[in-house]
Amino acid sequence: MPRHAPENQHAETVTASTVTAPAHWRTLDFISDLHLQASEPATVAAWQHYLASTPADALFILGDLFEVWVGDDIMLAFDDPDAAFALKCQRVLQAISARMPVYFIHGNRDFLLGEDFARVCGMTLLPDPTQLDFDGQRYLLSHGDALCLGDVDYQQFRLQVRQPAWQVNFLAKPLAERQEIARGLRSQSESRKASGAHYADVDTAEALSWLRANHASTLIHGHTHRPRDHVLDATTPPVLSRLVLSDWDAAAQPPRLEVLRLAGGHPPRRVVLAPAP
Ligand code: MN
Repeated sequence: MPRHAPENQHAETVTASTVTAPAHWRTLDFISDLHLQASEPATVAAWQHYLASTPADALFILGDLFEVWVGDDIMLAFDDPDAAFALKCQRVLQAISARMPVYFIHGNRDFLLGEDFARVCGMTLLPDPTQLDFDGQRYLLSHGDALCLGDVDYQQFRLQVRQPAWQVNFLAKPLAERQEIARGLRSQSESRKASGAHYADVDTAEALSWLRANHASTLIHGHTHRPRDHVLDATTPPVLSRLVLSDWDAAAQPPRLEVLRLAGGHPPRRVVLAPAP
């Protein structure tokens, strides 16, 4: 198993813990922003179908696997429809983690996914960012939301909700109240999206400073739903770049179902999946 340092509680710091890929890892998969929810069964099915057949030796989930996560105690709310959905996802994660290591970095939707659920699923939680040493290169892994400095309101919200005291207080509220708050936040975000509001992209200077502080050459992140390869600095070797993961939506036309795959000795490859049969 790879070694990694204890979790860094301060997501704002730019130095990270490290995952060192063992020599037998040949293929690594990266996914994010699946926004899994019971009301989008085709995306859930595509995810299950992909996991059943991936040749990866390790899976990195870089946040927003779930559309919403209000606390691990959802697993105890046996009569709640959200619990049934969480249990279904838990079984899928257990099956994949029985075959390979599964790592999870929190997104802005599922930042309350805790050690309890991670343990049950066989996943390892990683701090944001995390360094990954693989095939002679250092990658830096992040959800990406902390880099979108132009979203000033969101950065303030993030600072607040990532504080342990805020989380303890929120998680102490009754489940129904937390679900209500989450619904409110989601409808705010939906109406902001519908209004055509502009979302900030990753700040290039900040991304470069994260890469340099971590002696990494390639940042891999999600969050922005703007999948692309960006060269950030090619003036002196090594070239510094960032690879943005796609969000998933099996019901979109064309469907968005994409995995970023690293294989030793090859450039990163975007694998476009077909919807589940
Ligand atoms: Mn996100």
